Amino acid sequence: MCVPGCEQAVRQALSRRGFFRGAGAVAAASFAATAVTPEPAVAASFKRVVDLTHTMSPDFPTFFGVPGIEMQREKDFKKDGFNMFWWRVVEHAGTHMDAPIHFSEKGNSVEMIAVSELVVPLAVVDISRKAIDNPDYQLSRADLAAWEKTHGRLPNGCCVAMHSGWAQYVNDGKFTGRDVGGTFHFPGFGAEAVEWLMKERQVRGIAVDTLSLDTGSSKDFKVHYMWLPSGRWGLENVANLDKVPAKGATLVVGIPKVKGATGGPARLLALV
Ligand SMILES: [Zn+2]
Repeated sequence: MCVPGCEQAVRQALSRRGFFRGAGAVAAASFAATAVTPEPAVAASFKRVVDLTHTMSPDFPTFFGVPGIEMQREKDFKKDGFNMFWWRVVEHAGTHMDAPIHFSEKGNSVEMIAVSELVVPLAVVDISRKAIDNPDYQLSRADLAAWEKTHGRLPNGCCVAMHSGWAQYVNDGKFTGRDVGGTFHFPGFGAEAVEWLMKERQVRGIAVDTLSLDTGSSKDFKVHYMWLPSGRWGLENVANLDKVPAKGATLVVGIPKVKGATGGPARLLALV
């Protein structure tokens, strides 16, 4: 799928080549779309690998309040000669992906996402100082502007990750911030910032170190409903964003290729 700006680039390339004339235009358009789709500037080499993944277990906090994984021992080494579990997994638990189909009627499911869209430049926006006393903080357009002022324009095809500092709370109640009324309180992306990313930059995915792309107190899931139907993906419960640079790392999203999946547990690696 073309990210914003891509179609315009295709049109410009075509008009430059004079391909709009004649019956070959359709075939030429498909060729040109492939030729000019911007390739993410991923690492040609790297020195270390940072694991951006939390360890999954039945104790990991989930949005739905039920264990994200249940493991039933099916085979035991002493009895059967080998070990094996059966897993029952909530697609949206632990460090995981939201595929476009998660919040849309006809969006891509996991197996339909091209692998070229799963190895992307990583841009980390640090809002931890603002969020520390304000669990309802929303990553803003100003936060993105501040990042670009320091690091330059967001790379084409990148993943923009919100580093709120919430990964450190994964073993205590602050991670969900659940109040007496049952409402969660943790940071997320603001709708205005996401709208700007969709219109003004070519971003493949967004990531958060909290339970949801939207802030915990959101009732309308505006960010989910804007971002995912546009054909882009999201990542939630990301770990170790304090151990990667704001710019320059390459994110590798390893996710099981399950037919029709709306997301799923992911192993996220940052090549630094
Ligand atoms: Zn999810």
